[in-house]
Amino acid sequence: MAQILVTGGAGYIGSHTARFLLERGHDVHVLDDLSKGFAHNVPEGRLHVVNLHDAAALDGLFGTHRFEAVIHFAAFIAVGESVRESERYFRNNVGGSLSLLEAMRRHHVRRLVFSSTAAVYGNPEQTPITEDSPVRPVNPYGESKLMTETTLRWLDECSALRFVALRYFNACGAEARFGIGEEHEPETHLIPLIFRAIRTGEPLTVFGSDYATPDGTCIRDYIHVSDLASAHLSALDSLMNGGSSGIYNAGTGKGYSVLEVIRAAGIVTGKEVPYKIGARREGDPAELVADSQKLQKTLGWSPRYDTLESMVASAWEFDSMRHGRD
Ligand code: UDP
Repeated sequence: MAQILVTGGAGYIGSHTARFLLERGHDVHVLDDLSKGFAHNVPEGRLHVVNLHDAAALDGLFGTHRFEAVIHFAAFIAVGESVRESERYFRNNVGGSLSLLEAMRRHHVRRLVFSSTAAVYGNPEQTPITEDSPVRPVNPYGESKLMTETTLRWLDECSALRFVALRYFNACGAEARFGIGEEHEPETHLIPLIFRAIRTGEPLTVFGSDYATPDGTCIRDYIHVSDLASAHLSALDSLMNGGSSGIYNAGTGKGYSVLEVIRAAGIVTGKEVPYKIGARREGDPAELVADSQKLQKTLGWSPRYDTLESMVASAWEFDSMRHGRD
């Protein structure tokens, strides 16, 4: 049992990971400024409402606990917003990470698992994407994550820090027994927006149907949030056992088009999904599918959810609970 700090643990992926760590018996502390996350995602007595730029508060937290590792989720994640408010994104995502890394160095904490993103690849030339594919972000969000990865690679080189960065593909679903799930404000993600369309009757806009894919809509690699959480546990185990630093794709290796997701949601819910075809969304690559062999082989991870329907069903279970429906 180890003391673990989870930054951004009141958010979607962070809160799932924190619950799995607690189930494993770890002494989990969540740092979150609640600018995006929700206190109700964090179990009683585990939340420290702190902003990563507050060095004194970080010293207080690191001084009163003996963290053996940090899992760092806290960041802004909206691509469109990152284009409009780039300075705020770099300050928060890069600056916040630097402030955390400085506190870790002051307090001799040397293991970090970092939330990175497939957005570091930009518009990839080939799929599935391996970790050594060229990194060419096409928006400040992806760049902010890549800049943090670069910092981590240098700290691995120049200091005692060891890290694992997980490049997430499309997180989805929920772990119903924890009563938590995907809640973003404003919501931009496909599956919750499909459910909103079902609930309100307002059609979902499919962003483009003229991509070079079999049905013309974008293909993404959807990974269940619990499988993503378990990838963090595998990464943590590796670092705790003296494993070396590394960067890994976190996806399932299977891609689904927007229309396939809509179809799956129709089957799972037994309801019609109202949708219309609209214009492309700027910055959306046609296809993003992970080659996740490295994560599977090196860290011994494998996904439990292997069908789109099972992932969508778990998201629907949470959505129904949240909206008080049966
Ligand atoms: N998408 C869509 N309509 C929406 C929201 C998303 O067609 O209202 C598409 C989007 O273009 C992408 C896929 O759904 O191809 C997944 O988008 P999401 O925002 O969930 O995740 P992203 O791929 O941006 O990380």
